[in-house]
Amino acid sequence: PYSLGRAILDYDARRSAWLAAHPELPARVGRRPRVLVVTGSAPARCPDADGDHLLLRAFKNKADYCRVHGLDVFYNAAFLDAEMSGFWAKLPLLRALMLAHPEVELLWWVDSDAVFTDMAFEPPWERYARHNLVLHGWAAKVFEERSWVGINTGSFLIRNCQWSLDLLDAWAPMGSRGPVRDRYGELFARELSGRPPFEADDQSALVYLLVTQRGRWGDKTFIESTYELNGFWEGIVDRYEEMRRKGRPTGGLGDDRWPFVTHFVGCKPCRRYADSYPADRCRRGMERAFNFADDQILRLYGFEHESFNTTAVQRVGNETGGPLDADDDELGRLLHPTFRAA
Ligand code: UDP
Ligand code: MN
Repeated sequence: PYSLGRAILDYDARRSAWLAAHPELPARVGRRPRVLVVTGSAPARCPDADGDHLLLRAFKNKADYCRVHGLDVFYNAAFLDAEMSGFWAKLPLLRALMLAHPEVELLWWVDSDAVFTDMAFEPPWERYARHNLVLHGWAAKVFEERSWVGINTGSFLIRNCQWSLDLLDAWAPMGSRGPVRDRYGELFARELSGRPPFEADDQSALVYLLVTQRGRWGDKTFIESTYELNGFWEGIVDRYEEMRRKGRPTGGLGDDRWPFVTHFVGCKPCRRYADSYPADRCRRGMERAFNFADDQILRLYGFEHESFNTTAVQRVGNETGGPLDADDDELGRLLHPTFRAA
């Protein structure tokens, strides 16, 4: 049967030994675990003329978020494993990064089509201290309804440890390309609620693991719903003006009042034929998410978009000739964030 690589045993002890030998690279940075944001896209250019530009802007958004928060970021555009194509590509990638970066405590997979829309919000890292996997979703939808959308694998945290390597080992064989992936797709369609019959996807496979082997994986999995670690774009993208009018809640809640992440699930700018939503609605929503997020950065430098629907920007406020001091609120403080760890 398919496997991601040679079996790894005793990883936690070996990682601890590595960390002890490398005090200059601690797994904690300041007040939080060391985090590596991981994202990527296919090696080939998009068939759609606009697709690569959208990917560029989506990565620009991640570069902004990571700079502001002092997070490392890795962009993958290679097929590391011929069996793990498409949405499965994240599995061998996460495994390779874990093993190569023992200093990283948490890896944060973020889909290319997920946009950070609250640039100041940071996940409450300490809440997850006892868990190895953090998914956005609802426990009842997973364990009671067995819903394939009870969690989302477009934005999740996974700890660098033996448990996670074991999870990847249990997860990956369901995605091996060809007849195996097709058969698991049929199994998921039968066993999970609301799941249409298409080839096995990594998200359904993870739900399937959680419901069929809850004892093995459930305890260390945190299912988060208090903020939008993964916010579904449809209910968000028409409300950005309203959010700005009402203002960002103090402290930053990351919930639907000013969503942390807006994820364009089902929009496939690089695969026109596979769109589940009208392409122009996806395209317009993405434009608005990028600009809503970008305004939180541009304002620090004295600019903003003329509207969320256009790339055109205008100057806000007058130059004083002195150093810019935008820190009159939490978004303003992003220029020199005090929480920035590294
Ligand atoms: N992806 C990748 N390489 C590929 C195809 C996809 O790294 O060859 C990544 C990319 O970041 C993409 C994610 O896998 O965002 C999941 O796919 P997609 O967002 O299209 O699925 P959806 O969120 O719509 O279910
Ligand atoms: Mn996605």
